[in-house]
Amino acid sequence: MENLSITDIKLLQSHISITWNNGHTSIFSSRKIRLNCKCAQCVDEITQENLIDETTISEILYAEDHLIVGKYAIQFLWSDGHSTGIYPFDTLLKLCQCQICNNQ
Ligand SMILES: [Zn+2]
Ligand SMILES: [Zn+2]
Repeated sequence: MENLSITDIKLLQSHISITWNNGHTSIFSSRKIRLNCKCAQCVDEITQENLIDETTISEILYAEDHLIVGKYAIQFLWSDGHSTGIYPFDTLLKLCQCQICNNQ
């Protein structure tokens, strides 16, 4: 499999748009990505149980900043102050909500 990398990223009001080196442009709901955080605060490391209480995550959550981690993952600074989640590119792509991928 070719190595995914990001050629363009836009942090929008409620969405994140990422263009990959394979030409695909992904659209993600910021809140959906936040709810899929797999950091130790958000997922129980032993049981894999999701510890996020959805009701505590604002509907108008957005990404304030991002950081590329190594060559394979991205980290977001969310408007609720959370930033410990690391999202491997291939994991992120599986959540893509563009018209082609159409994940909800
Ligand atoms: Zn988290
Ligand atoms: Zn897509």
